[in-house]
Amino acid sequence: MHGNGGKPLLAQSPAGPFLAGLHHLRKKVSRQVSSFSASLRRIGASLIQWVDSDYTLESPESIRAQPDGVNLVRCLPFVILHLGCLGVIWVGWSWFAVWAAVFLYVVRMFAVTGIFHRYFSHKTYSTSRFGQFLLAVWTGTTVQRGPLWWAYHHRHHHQHSDQEEDAHSPHVHGFLWSHIGWITSKRNFPTDYSKVKDLAKYPELVWLNRFDIVVPVLFALSLFGLGAFLESAAPQLGTSAWQLVVWGFFISTTALFHGTASINSFTHLWGKRRFHTTDDSRNSFILAIITLGEGWHNNHHRYQSSTRNGFYWWEIDPTYYGLKFLSWTGFIWGLKPVPQSIYEEAARNAHQDTIRRMSLSSVQDEINTLKRVVPTAAAIAMATVNSPEVAAQMQKKDGPAIHKPVNELAEQPPATSPDAPSKQD
Ligand SMILES: [Zn+2]
Ligand SMILES: [Zn+2]
Repeated sequence: MHGNGGKPLLAQSPAGPFLAGLHHLRKKVSRQVSSFSASLRRIGASLIQWVDSDYTLESPESIRAQPDGVNLVRCLPFVILHLGCLGVIWVGWSWFAVWAAVFLYVVRMFAVTGIFHRYFSHKTYSTSRFGQFLLAVWTGTTVQRGPLWWAYHHRHHHQHSDQEEDAHSPHVHGFLWSHIGWITSKRNFPTDYSKVKDLAKYPELVWLNRFDIVVPVLFALSLFGLGAFLESAAPQLGTSAWQLVVWGFFISTTALFHGTASINSFTHLWGKRRFHTTDDSRNSFILAIITLGEGWHNNHHRYQSSTRNGFYWWEIDPTYYGLKFLSWTGFIWGLKPVPQSIYEEAARNAHQDTIRRMSLSSVQDEINTLKRVVPTAAAIAMATVNSPEVAAQMQKKDGPAIHKPVNELAEQPPATSPDAPSKQD
């Protein structure tokens, strides 16, 4: 009933404004309650994801479609890891704890490079199914999530190196993002199992990938137990439960993270390029030492299927030496060599580089002579030689990178094979 200009009677009665206000308040409260419960659900999901990394409120596809951004919840593990190093103020140090940290850095860097990278991501050698499971457990101690998540992101990197889609290109996203930021982005959290079908067919690997917190927790607890045992059984070592956790877990794992991350950031910025790949990957001796051989990144981008990243004896590659040793025990086999055609290409490139350097120096000699004779002409010649066009021509890339289509790996037959180990390399 609208008795006056179509206005509801409620609004005209003395109680009208009060009831309308109440109605407005109720709507506001209900909106706030629903947004609060949505926040609670999101926080609950985040908590569950710490244990079950495949748990999600949205589809993984929609998460991957979101724009990049730092997710504060995903920063927490890095904050805890770095703050944990400060525990040294309270637990002190002992030679045993320091050497434990160094030892655990080396054996776990080997797990990153020799297993996450050269086995799960590129399948550069074979092992039995049980051997594969043991390798996956070993990678769990690195606290760098599961083998399928790692391999999926790494294959994606090779497919889109230094392009817009590359999750951690320092050229596209900047240094800090390529080093650490990309891991905190929500869109990079889920594993795309369709891109690692060759690994996803093993339930034990999927389990370790999904519950990727289990091995790190067991690893930390083992260090605590060992420290407590040594404190009473071998007090002369001067170590303790918490000291071993701080050195063996927090300090060693933080160093391991930055060593690994340097491959995503520095090896696309520092060093020399032997091969003219379409990305900006580089070879660096210093990074090869820090990462047990992964610093020969330009070699690797040129030919990803080889077990070795250091293509020559002087390119130190401790991961390859370790894998070679494991192949002698029969635990792994079928290490893949660098093809002769790649060595020939390297030799051609080295020859062309020499010619380029020589031609540059001969031009420089002529300019120096000219300088003495006709200074103006020398200035023009200098400007021409230093022009961006000429520099670009001199450094012209003469061949595209040959990227092994990593997607094809997903279609390959299983790496595990009942065949007798072959000694090929
Ligand atoms: Zn790369
Ligand atoms: Zn790779």
